[in-house]
Amino acid sequence: MMKATSFALALSLSLLGLGGAYTVQKGDTLYSLARANNLKVEDLRRLNNLSSDALAVGQVLRLSAGEARPPAANTATPSPIKPNPVPPKSVASSAATKPLPAPSGFTLTPPTSTPRTPTTSTPTPAPPKAVSAAPESPPKPPVTVPITVRTGSRFEVGGVGVTLPEQLGMGDAFSVRLTGPGAQSAAVRFPSELGEDVRQPGETLTPSGAAGVYVVPGRVVLGKTTPVIVEIAVGGEVVRGIIPLRPKPGGPVVKLHLSPTVAAKLTDPGKAAEDALVNKAYLNRGQPVWTRPFAAAVPNPPIPGSFGQSRTYTSGSPVAYHYGADYPAKLGTPIHAVNDGTVVIAGTYPVRGGLVMIDHGGGVSSLYFHQSRILVKVGQAVKRGDVIGQVGTTGLSEGPHLHLEIRVRGEATQPADWINRLWP
Ligand SMILES: [Zn+2]
Repeated sequence: MMKATSFALALSLSLLGLGGAYTVQKGDTLYSLARANNLKVEDLRRLNNLSSDALAVGQVLRLSAGEARPPAANTATPSPIKPNPVPPKSVASSAATKPLPAPSGFTLTPPTSTPRTPTTSTPTPAPPKAVSAAPESPPKPPVTVPITVRTGSRFEVGGVGVTLPEQLGMGDAFSVRLTGPGAQSAAVRFPSELGEDVRQPGETLTPSGAAGVYVVPGRVVLGKTTPVIVEIAVGGEVVRGIIPLRPKPGGPVVKLHLSPTVAAKLTDPGKAAEDALVNKAYLNRGQPVWTRPFAAAVPNPPIPGSFGQSRTYTSGSPVAYHYGADYPAKLGTPIHAVNDGTVVIAGTYPVRGGLVMIDHGGGVSSLYFHQSRILVKVGQAVKRGDVIGQVGTTGLSEGPHLHLEIRVRGEATQPADWINRLWP
């Protein structure tokens, strides 16, 4: 274990070695540069002592090992932190460099698992004797599906009404609302979700709902600054909608100075297994099980601005987003489930401390960190308001508080936005 750890450490140190310099071009972001150079954004921030994610044209950045590649070299490389099981598709890749407007008339390779792939476009005359002439038949040409780009927050796709938010901000959860006959069979993707900083990009999602109203929950990934692009396919029609983003509020990096004993948890040998367990649970995709608005987990208000804050935990440590909201409360304060769901994690871990994770279905989960006592078990069904544990200061914590996360397909969203709303 120690050997593996020091190897990983040596590897990451070599990644941080001196590399070429790159002059920032128009349109570059920290994320596009990190992606193009197979780096983590944190590495770029650290290499260049950046206290903000804003880049200026002409600014010279140090990049790591080897040649400096501009972001246009569209080579999405799987990140060592968040490997993407779904490789970006060709349409998604073209959206990386030119997020809007997308040209119509894309050439799409027909998805193998989507039932609504037009079958009329493969007019292979079936010879009477050949049952399955796979080796003999010529390779099928890619099907050209016109993609229409719509502006505005309301439009139609194949007779299905679509309602999108008019504007979003980093860390927002939202819903793509589909109405009318056929809404249930729509397929929804977010082609703007690209890169190492996105969990499960390129996923094709099916809406859930009833009585003619169907929704797909969305999330604005922390660190993303480009508009959210929603692609909706109904029947043979594919339409893209564009949701503009509010400028990032951009607070300063908050420098925490954790005590050595607490900071040591960041390098705990058990951290990798802990992260793997949680990452796996982010993949749950059941039907949404909640029917009532989300409720507060503790009565106290959170520390303002604690969600999405850029932080360093020790002097010189990389800048990381804070994915939850912190609710200071007395030791032993009961913690309530924010909504109905199933307990998928309940235990004590090095960083998150006493942790409960509830899967609410629909790709939505809530996580409760640093508990002193856990009162539920894995597999247990909970109802909104059920007491699941008590506030503590276990794991990476220096005082009693609840760290609450509400995630959509693994990406952190602002917890306060969920409370008291029937969502999405
Ligand atoms: Zn926290």
